[in-house]
Amino acid sequence: MELSLTVLGSSGSYPGPGRACSSYLVEGGGVRVWVDAGSGSLANLQRHVALSEVDAVIISHEHADHWQDIEGFAIGCHLLLRLPPIPIYAPAGLRGRMQGPAGAFLWNDVTDDDRIRIGGLEVSFHRTDHGPETLAMRFDRGGRALGYSADSGPGWSLEALGRGLDLALCEATYLADREGTLQHLSARQAGVSARAAGAGRLVITHLQPGVDPERARAEAEAAFGAPVEVAIEGLRIEL
Ligand SMILES: [Zn+2]
Ligand SMILES: [Zn+2]
Repeated sequence: MELSLTVLGSSGSYPGPGRACSSYLVEGGGVRVWVDAGSGSLANLQRHVALSEVDAVIISHEHADHWQDIEGFAIGCHLLLRLPPIPIYAPAGLRGRMQGPAGAFLWNDVTDDDRIRIGGLEVSFHRTDHGPETLAMRFDRGGRALGYSADSGPGWSLEALGRGLDLALCEATYLADREGTLQHLSARQAGVSARAAGAGRLVITHLQPGVDPERARAEAEAAFGAPVEVAIEGLRIEL
């Protein structure tokens, strides 16, 4: 196993019943990275790793459904466990929103086209079509690649992450009947995007509460042309 994805939060925009907002654990190259930290995800994170085992945090953008649980994480790590500061990578706009203890994190601003290395994991960032600066990500390790759309409207495509994605994790906020109502993708559009990128496998996520996952899956599959999985808390995929 070179690279793995564990879903910690799959709900879009606000938490659904028993579901957390956007959050994932990406492991590979000897490191564990907490990617997005929507509300409810800190509880789920600890089902898989201890707080002291998180090597870095990456936040895609400053919308509340993607970062709020770093507040509790900072209190736990810094004030209670007294861990050394943890590297965090995020668009510059996020810093000013954080209320928690200064010193919990080592802040690193990232922007479009940036590439970083965390342990043996390579991460590249690509700005999407969304409100505040929002960064999609590509994770590479040992010839395996995972792409994550973060949030995006249809003006951006997973193609921007490059060829060779073994797995595309793509937002699908609603069904095709709501296309164009928000700067988000429908399940159909997620399928179109993943197909255009030539992704080997597609997992859709960020479904808003009330969106029927089976209808979303069917819509995405028809556009992608292959089976699609719907993200749910606890889903783990090894690449
Ligand atoms: Zn969102
Ligand atoms: Zn957003």
